[in-house]
Amino acid sequence: MTRSPVWHPFTQHGLGEPVPLVARGEGAILWTEDGQRIIDGISSWWVTTHGHGHPLIVQAIAEQAGKLDQVIFAGWTHEPAETLARGLVDLMPDPLAHVFFSDSGSTSVEVALKMALGYWLHRGEPRHRIVVMEHSYHGDTIGAMSIGARGVFNRAYAPLLFDVTEIPFPHEGAEQATLDRLEAICREEAPAALIVEPLILGAGGMLIYSPQVLAEMRAICARHGVLFIADEVMTGWGRTGTLLACEQADVVPDILCLSKGLTGGTIPLAVTMATPAIFDAHYSTDRSRALYHSSSYTANPIACAAANANLAIWREEPVLDRIADLAARQAHHLDATASLPGVARARRIGTITALDVEVRDTGYLSAVGPQMLAHFRKEGLLLRPLGNTVYVMPPYCIEEADLAALYAGIRKALRDLAI
Ligand SMILES: *Cc1c(COP(=O)(O)O)cnc(C)c1O
Repeated sequence: MTRSPVWHPFTQHGLGEPVPLVARGEGAILWTEDGQRIIDGISSWWVTTHGHGHPLIVQAIAEQAGKLDQVIFAGWTHEPAETLARGLVDLMPDPLAHVFFSDSGSTSVEVALKMALGYWLHRGEPRHRIVVMEHSYHGDTIGAMSIGARGVFNRAYAPLLFDVTEIPFPHEGAEQATLDRLEAICREEAPAALIVEPLILGAGGMLIYSPQVLAEMRAICARHGVLFIADEVMTGWGRTGTLLACEQADVVPDILCLSKGLTGGTIPLAVTMATPAIFDAHYSTDRSRALYHSSSYTANPIACAAANANLAIWREEPVLDRIADLAARQAHHLDATASLPGVARARRIGTITALDVEVRDTGYLSAVGPQMLAHFRKEGLLLRPLGNTVYVMPPYCIEEADLAALYAGIRKALRDLAI
């Protein structure tokens, strides 16, 4: 067989690991070309919310593709984008009244940073320092990497990354240290903004913290006039049990980043939503104060149509009931796994569960990661441990037998790998 020219992301080709060819998807199931049935236990990397091939989204994509496939968005507009922007403003909390389109979670974060710096510059008080939380992940472009945790992912590029100020992760019992540090930074460094992943840090290892801390951080920022950016790229669209994780803390950010589940997980699209204060700082007859960010496919009509179908599903189908049902089933399966030998720190929020496998070499390059991955592949399970952290984050439509099979696979891995 000739070797594929494809260079895969987060893949060390030198290890010769198999790369299955996926041919079809429906609900929580993927089929490989050679007929293997795979249970998608991680929503195809946290994007697939209602399941693969939801008929309403598929139909919306087909219809829009036949009508208008693409048009420049600087100085032009189209119905799917207008409908989507209005729909988002209706669905998301006040006063998030402005919608800026881009193409991925990373770019939605880049735009958030540009909005924050633009806000301060155009007010005549330039500020550029960004405050971030320890262990966070905000994407893989240079700006998004700069505000994320430093490590093996970005060691080669470290010289290009800009300097930020970090607050410690609010571990249970140590929350006050995080809040005190944030308060001191806001007082002493006049930062432009704080950016956080609300309630759960995803790529950092599924680390969960309390709504109270989120609410307190927001309040500290508000007191000091520091912008509060919520990166809900992973947590948005119901993952944590509510449409937005911020809802659980009764928090509304100044800037909100959404992507992944925005199109139900079908087509790349992202938005950065902002309050009138942010928009108005850019609003002027002076062309130099425009928000200078665009990509060729900004607000692609087919992607917007997919997102409009997703919003219709949220409005018309009992999505929150499905999420509550999945969350209860997830809790039940986690409870049955949490007390097994070798399992530590079992935790959950909404539709997400996670546990750590007790090994000596922890962290992303922990040897147990690839061992478990190979085991899950053999069992027909799409689970992708983050180092020694195993998590389950399925599409909301997953059948009970398939969810049970994911946990049976995890328990078998713990036994077979003699952990
Ligand atoms: C996935 C993710 C991103 C990056 O999104 P991409 O679409 O992969 O660029 C940003 N922030 C968070 C919290 C994420 O989980």
